[in-house]
Amino acid sequence: MKEIVLIKLGEIALKGLNRFSFEDALKKNIKSALYGAGYFKVSIAQSTIYVTPQSEVDMDEVCDRISRVFGIVSFSRACVCEKNIEDIFLKAPEYLADTLRYAKTFKVEAKRSDKKFPLTSPEISREVGGLLLEHFPHLTVDVHNPEVKVVVEIRDFGAYIHAGAEKGAGGIPVGTGGNAAILISGGIDSPVAAYMLAKRGVKLTAIHFASPPYTSERAEDKVQRLLRKVSRYAGPIEMITVPFTKIQERIKDECEEELFTIIMRRMMMKISNIIAEKYDCTALITGESLGQVASQTISAIACTDEAAEMPVFRPLIGMDKEEIIQISRKIDTFDISIEPFEDCCTVFTPKHPRTKPVLKFVKYAEEDAHLDDLIAEAVENVKVITIR
Ligand code: ATP
Ligand code: MG
Repeated sequence: MKEIVLIKLGEIALKGLNRFSFEDALKKNIKSALYGAGYFKVSIAQSTIYVTPQSEVDMDEVCDRISRVFGIVSFSRACVCEKNIEDIFLKAPEYLADTLRYAKTFKVEAKRSDKKFPLTSPEISREVGGLLLEHFPHLTVDVHNPEVKVVVEIRDFGAYIHAGAEKGAGGIPVGTGGNAAILISGGIDSPVAAYMLAKRGVKLTAIHFASPPYTSERAEDKVQRLLRKVSRYAGPIEMITVPFTKIQERIKDECEEELFTIIMRRMMMKISNIIAEKYDCTALITGESLGQVASQTISAIACTDEAAEMPVFRPLIGMDKEEIIQISRKIDTFDISIEPFEDCCTVFTPKHPRTKPVLKFVKYAEEDAHLDDLIAEAVENVKVITIR
């Protein structure tokens, strides 16, 4: 039996004049999410996106991928019928057999947007309901709280039967909310922060600081695998790896130990500014959460922020670790994040990092370390790959 996916749009349905560019972005993102899973026609009519396979495809895989595309409220995997009640009668029992066999209660809901169809919605519901009861006599109808809601949709180009809608990823389509650079480590937090901004439509570029030989190639590989997970939601991501060793060594040699972390974080910001601008990003994103570590107190964040020339989004700022972990499990990054590899932030960490750094003194120390040449050199020597 021929199947398609019917997709209901999310907040984008409300966006007035922007609607068309949002719909276009969503169609593009759906196609990109389905890349390599077969050939599809992706079209839109009556506020519904139709994903019609044009080749042999694995529909479980198709639905799994669609479930991660932002901008979708709900979607239904449906059987395609001709627009007459005979064909609906013919296909409904077989198509719904697996679902109805193990259910106890059901109801049928008909939606008729093509008013030329000879039966009304209540008539369709009644007829199809009766037919299904004949085929599955163990079922009873429950109109208020059915285990399975069978939906028959009579639309302009065809009739469709499905067993209800699945929840979509929500949010708004990636690419409609501007571009921002996520500072990504191998930890739990930054992949979650990336996911959260992608959910609000932001197209991501990723910046990762590596300090070989203190950090290993396997640590970089870990970050790539994390980004691959994030890209299932966010689409393809350009990953820029910055060689950070010389800067860290210089800070360690030249600056007071207690200020090492804060100056290092300011350097991350300065370098990220330059790279973000090159990649058309107008904001930075970090996975910081207030009070989590010494560099994430209000005064430390104020010192870090001062080095950034664009807005810095910290979507996890008010979240507990447990709440962050919950999301990281949902997006399947948690198990990778907890693999034990060094991050540059754990190289040369002072025993007692200052939790209330004073900006003026941090800047004096930073100037004494003469880091500008090394910043330019680091930016010059980045490595770029595309993650998808
Ligand atoms: P995470 O779990 O994301 O590693 P964390 O709690 O370990 O976060 P820190 O190590 O202090 O916190 O880092 C805070 C934020 O700084 C990270 O969420 C990330 O945005 C950024 N960051 C840390 N290390 C790196 C790195 N090596 N490259 C790029 N960004 C980094
Ligand atoms: Mg970290």
